[in-house]
Amino acid sequence: MRLSQRAASMAPSPTLAMDAKAKAMRRQGIDVISFSVGEPDFDTPAHIRAAAAAAMEQGHTRYTPAGGIPELKEVIQEKLARVNGLEYTPDQIVVSVGAKHALYNAFQVLLDPGDEVIIPAPYWVSYADQVRLAGGEPVIVPTTEDTGFKLTAAQLRDHLTPRTRALVLNSPCNPTGAVYSRTELAALAEAVLAHPDCLIIADEIYEPFVYDGNEHVSIASLSPEIKARTLVINGVSKMYAMTGWRIGYAAGPKELIQAMADLQSQSTSNPTSISQWAAVAALRGSQEPVGEMVAAFRKRRDLIVEGLRALPGVTCQVPPGAFYVFPRVDAAFGKRYGDQVINNSQELAMALLNEAHVALVPGSAFGYEGYLRLSYAANENQIRAGLERIANFWRALA
Ligand code: PMP
Ligand code: GLU
Repeated sequence: MRLSQRAASMAPSPTLAMDAKAKAMRRQGIDVISFSVGEPDFDTPAHIRAAAAAAMEQGHTRYTPAGGIPELKEVIQEKLARVNGLEYTPDQIVVSVGAKHALYNAFQVLLDPGDEVIIPAPYWVSYADQVRLAGGEPVIVPTTEDTGFKLTAAQLRDHLTPRTRALVLNSPCNPTGAVYSRTELAALAEAVLAHPDCLIIADEIYEPFVYDGNEHVSIASLSPEIKARTLVINGVSKMYAMTGWRIGYAAGPKELIQAMADLQSQSTSNPTSISQWAAVAALRGSQEPVGEMVAAFRKRRDLIVEGLRALPGVTCQVPPGAFYVFPRVDAAFGKRYGDQVINNSQELAMALLNEAHVALVPGSAFGYEGYLRLSYAANENQIRAGLERIANFWRALA
């Protein structure tokens, strides 16, 4: 069948693909331990589930405004003011089918052919493909371990051109867990402000997942000038363990938000009405479950970092945020497992899946060779068992 050039140039999401492989092996009865997909293993808190059931009973089962119900926009507005110090009007907020959808829509309405989007690497898997799908050109800027995998203002200035339409800034970062400080953000903001056509797409989906006294700062909150140039992306997937409910949102300049809502009205229509009511309860209700989840994740992070550092040749930073670790594993390259030579992170990830039954994602999926990403959104027993399998695999490398 002849598909469009657009479709031909597109690859499926590698994180979701790895998760699908792990699930398929489990269906065959293979006991796979998964550190692959980034989703909390906690259940959606009970009061949120109850709100969804109540929404169905109350008949909230019909189309809603394409960009979201006013009640949800109102609680998002309150959250952005209370937590981030950001004042928006409801027409500066759009609710989408997950943060992924909000990002997709933003690139669709912002980019013309040849427009550039700066993406620091390692980057979350979907940014570059979404930019390409919108006809834009991803400009990948590799960061280095010595800056904690953070883009510097000097690097940014070197890559800004008159065609740059956006910088994607993901803090806390998937896959490295990097968290930008206020000072680092201010330096990036200054560089962007010197380019009138450049926006910042601030993906803050891991906002509450910061550890060891680190603080999440929204770059939009630094000044009115930078707020006018920022599209804040967030959602309920991670912080309320609601990945399957598919609610994300964007806040930013009114014209941009309107265009995103119009695109939605022609494509998906509204995000699920019931999920929107559940998200109202999530944002309005007790935030205690979030704190409990973050505390559990911090313990798990320390456990997994310790286990990975015990592998000969492996180095691993302690990530200050998100729920991923990103160990350097190139010590394994060129070695053999049985009669198989491991040449890169993709081959290492596949060998770990097939031989050790541990699912994780190769660094190459995030535009960064030599590393692996492990999501530690798994319980401590699974983490211990998974680390043991990885250690046995490592010992067998020759
Ligand atoms: N941004 C980042 C950095 C992510 O890791 C994810 C993962 N799901 C998303 C956006 C999308 O989240 P969702 O669509 O579930 O809201
Ligand atoms: N963002 C998560 C991850 O990186 C979920 C999968 C996806 O949306 O790609 O694993």
